[in-house]
Amino acid sequence: MDDLSYQVDLLRATNEKLSRDEKMLRLICETSDSAFLYYSYAEDQFRTVANWEHFFDFVVADARDLDRLYDCVEEQCIIPLREVLFIEKQNLQSQSIQVTLKARRVRLEVEVRVVYDAAGKPTDKIVRFRDITRVSLQNDELTYLAYYDTLTGLYNRNYFVRLLGEFIRRAGDENRTVAVMFLDFDDFRRINDGMGLIVGDELVQVFGQFLSEMMDDHVLVSHFNSDIYCIGIYDPCGARSVDTIYKIIRERLRQPFILSGGQEIFISLSVGVAEYPEAASGTLELINCAEIVMFKAKNMGKDKVLYYEGRILDEFLKNVSIENKLKDAVFRQNFIMYYQPQFHTGDKSLRGVEALIRWKDDNGKMVSPEVFIPIAEKNGAIVPIGDWVIEESLRVCADWKKKYHYPLIVSLNISAVQYRQRDFIEKLLDLTEKYGIAPEELELEITETALIEDFTEITEKLEALKNIGIKISLDDFGTGYSSLSYLKGLPIDTLKIDKSFIDTVISDENTRIITESIIYMGKKLGYETIAEGVETEEQYRYLQEVNCDNIQGFLLGRPMAAEKIEELLAGMAV
Ligand code: C2E
Ligand code: CA
Ligand code: CA
Repeated sequence: MDDLSYQVDLLRATNEKLSRDEKMLRLICETSDSAFLYYSYAEDQFRTVANWEHFFDFVVADARDLDRLYDCVEEQCIIPLREVLFIEKQNLQSQSIQVTLKARRVRLEVEVRVVYDAAGKPTDKIVRFRDITRVSLQNDELTYLAYYDTLTGLYNRNYFVRLLGEFIRRAGDENRTVAVMFLDFDDFRRINDGMGLIVGDELVQVFGQFLSEMMDDHVLVSHFNSDIYCIGIYDPCGARSVDTIYKIIRERLRQPFILSGGQEIFISLSVGVAEYPEAASGTLELINCAEIVMFKAKNMGKDKVLYYEGRILDEFLKNVSIENKLKDAVFRQNFIMYYQPQFHTGDKSLRGVEALIRWKDDNGKMVSPEVFIPIAEKNGAIVPIGDWVIEESLRVCADWKKKYHYPLIVSLNISAVQYRQRDFIEKLLDLTEKYGIAPEELELEITETALIEDFTEITEKLEALKNIGIKISLDDFGTGYSSLSYLKGLPIDTLKIDKSFIDTVISDENTRIITESIIYMGKKLGYETIAEGVETEEQYRYLQEVNCDNIQGFLLGRPMAAEKIEELLAGMAV
């Protein structure tokens, strides 16, 4: 009896413990956000546990019900799901896969575990379904961000570099070429500044969409940033040759891009092209080459395509080294001013001097302003350099004035970048005051090309300067716009006839006709004329005959150091 009551007690205790354990297990299952499917091999029965109804509206009791499960998932998930649910066939203990439910595009992780007995026979199987939609969306988004540019949907720079690398490897094996086209909008800043960044962004997007139509197995299109795109072409030829692609783009650019706000925008592009293996064998180098060529295309007047040549790279490297040295030179002011005398044609008396900058680089080599001024204009160094030129020249002239009392005009070359500075006039007037230089003793030169490029903004400044009494001189006249009719009404005092005319004025009849017209017209409009680059006595006599007011050139004086000018002044002092 005792024995029996002991047995009963034991059973009760065990039952209590079992139900406590079951309660605990149910709680654990329910608080997890997974659904479970349990299978007992002994009973050949399935049981659905916990949040099953959260995912499925049916229960699985036996193997036939599994068909309903397969019906729920997307087509391509059915076979993997069937395999994972029966992993015991492969003698596996556990495995997991991901499936997508058709109905709500819920992504589930399906994890299966099988328990085996000592003899290796399966006894129990548990399948867990876990909702991973959020995690997987986040992963998709991260993947997208890693490969694509969000603004245009094109490949981003990194991914493009990777794919281009694959093109290059393949081209190496298959003995083919790979072309890179580096595209950059011309004057994008003007669109961004003038119409706002939102318009700029939309334009970038719309143009990107247009480019994306060219993508295929052999053509990669990428948006690097801002207004820069890159196209990679495997084995460029026929319909996917660089020429054809460029032609398609050009054709499209003949029409404006119409934006959501109704704006119609025309754009032009500068394009640089470099090909593997000719230009470079590495991916990044190839892109760099194409970029450098694109810069060159911009310098050559924009709106064009240019192909890689070794020369372009050499030039670029030279410019980079000049640019670096130039920064240092600005800092240390390694510049010297030379002055070239200008003479009245009639009596060869001194009219004035043109201040011309010289730069001695660290190796003591003279670098021509024709080389470094364009670079300084591009990187902004022209502003501090120009400030120094103005101050140094005015200082020296004030000194001459004090010593020799000679009525001298000092001509300064001012680049468009300087004219565009907001405080240009103010800074200039501060200096003329500081050194006691009268407005009529100062002449500012501007090249015809610079003037035409920024006509409205610069003419306003020139007008203001001219009103103060400072002379304005149009430099290199005849090389730029070359139309005499636009001269009328320009705020200028002096015309400098470019050296290229003087060079051939003796030998070429047509040049003579043009030169004489310039002088005649200039005079009619009330401008003073100066012939540049006069090297021979013959040229001088001719210019005298046709009544050119002044001459400047190696014949009567090269650019020289300030002390040499002093010698001239000492001889001419009145
Ligand atoms: P530019 O203003 O046309 O200056 C005249 C150039 O012609 C000078 O070259 C001068 O040395 C040269 N030249 C004068 N007469 C003759 C001649 O009879 N024969 C020959 N073969 N050449 C002659 P440079 O000094 O090398 O200056 C070149 C250019 O650099 C200048 O052309 C000007 O555009 C620019 N530049 C020079 N100094 C400055 C400066 O301080 N500021 C700016 N922004 N540009 C400057
Ligand atoms: Ca000049
Ligand atoms: Ca000139």
